[in-house]
Amino acid sequence: MARAGFISRLTAVAGVVGLGVVGCGGGETRGASPPAAPPPYAASAPVTQAVGAIKELPAVRKGLEFIERDHQATVAEQVTMSEIPSPPFHEDQRAADYLRRLTELGLEDVHRDKTGNVYGLRRGSGGGPTLFVSAHLDTVFPPGTDVKVEQKDGKYYGPGISDDARGLAALLGVVRALRESGIQTQGDVIFGGTVGEEGLGDLRGVKGFFAENQQVDGFITIEPGAPDQITYQATGSRRYKISFPGPGGHSFGDFGRPSSLHAMGRAIARIAEIRTPAQPKTTFTVGVVEGGTSVNAIAGTASMQVDMRSNDPAALKALEDQLLPMAQVAADEENARWNAPADKKVTVKTELIGDRPAGNQDPNSPMVQASFAAATALGQKTTLDTPSSTDANLPISKGIPALRLGGGGGEGNTHSFTDKEWFDPKDAHLGPQSTFLTVLALVGVAGERPVAPLLPSR
Ligand SMILES: [Zn+2]
Repeated sequence: MARAGFISRLTAVAGVVGLGVVGCGGGETRGASPPAAPPPYAASAPVTQAVGAIKELPAVRKGLEFIERDHQATVAEQVTMSEIPSPPFHEDQRAADYLRRLTELGLEDVHRDKTGNVYGLRRGSGGGPTLFVSAHLDTVFPPGTDVKVEQKDGKYYGPGISDDARGLAALLGVVRALRESGIQTQGDVIFGGTVGEEGLGDLRGVKGFFAENQQVDGFITIEPGAPDQITYQATGSRRYKISFPGPGGHSFGDFGRPSSLHAMGRAIARIAEIRTPAQPKTTFTVGVVEGGTSVNAIAGTASMQVDMRSNDPAALKALEDQLLPMAQVAADEENARWNAPADKKVTVKTELIGDRPAGNQDPNSPMVQASFAAATALGQKTTLDTPSSTDANLPISKGIPALRLGGGGGEGNTHSFTDKEWFDPKDAHLGPQSTFLTVLALVGVAGERPVAPLLPSR
């Protein structure tokens, strides 16, 4: 149904191309009165009360105070870890360091799994859910990048200093606070770092983790950013490399043969005309093209990399079903143009190079409410953020409650190769504090004044 709806919407929008309203995003609602603004999001009274009760427990107060005192040590650890190179597919050195840090914090069974993730267990009193709290070990920066961190005007500059050295450090701060305060949780918490979150890493760490650990009930990834914005929706992406191998030949002597580049040009022209819905936001682009060998040769090679994204799995599938066949149609057109014989045709090879599943969850789920109530209880003006693409995509797409939480502090120039990524430590302790309180609310607290876990066991 969703697919049919998307296609009919494509047709409807395509029908008004001449009116020039395509792309404004409001074409369908013209003439109708604007929808009333939804009431601001709020956690329910029971969830707010449960989080409030946890926050007032003496041990929890102690933990929260510890995190504030631990601020400088957390930032120092963040800088140290950021200076350990961790390029895509080469996370070994940082993983070994992180494994040591997790072990020193007293977690059980700290190990590196088959995929390369490192994690250990903090066991609860029993009967509660199991939560995995993670940050990602990899960066986008290739081997050889100068990862030295510089401090200037109160900020820290360095590739990966925020993304995700902040997440890694905030996570260790949470584990330390749990240890210092001696809190006994009801559920189990797995803490660790994942590999392959960025780019062509394609979430391989988190994919591997959930293949090995199917009993996990919930997931949190700590990424850079303010802890007052909570992400609970996942933007999915599918990325392809589409190649057009052809016969090639001399531009004059072999004139009359089909060209790989011309075929790809036809494909791109078709793709460029695709119309996608503004809601759910669905996008595409041909990001990289390569091909040909010489100006005086009919190109026998051409390839392009295409990125497609959507916040809705059905819309993403519909876009893919529309876009991918265009390559073959374009090659057929090019072959027909030159009446190419069977052994001199341009062909098409399609290769999936990226697959990040899209997904949605109920904003009123216990997990979203608990994190919202926790950040709010710490005095933050909390909001639910727009969808993004992180390790949380994978569990969300599987129906496992999952969130991206901010590690705290300010950040900028993330992933930039031209301007240095930076981290501003001001009030950064609010990141680990929010995660600490969220984790306790989700897995519950044991002891004299027990508070039941909000996260359901699956
Ligand atoms: Zn990240």
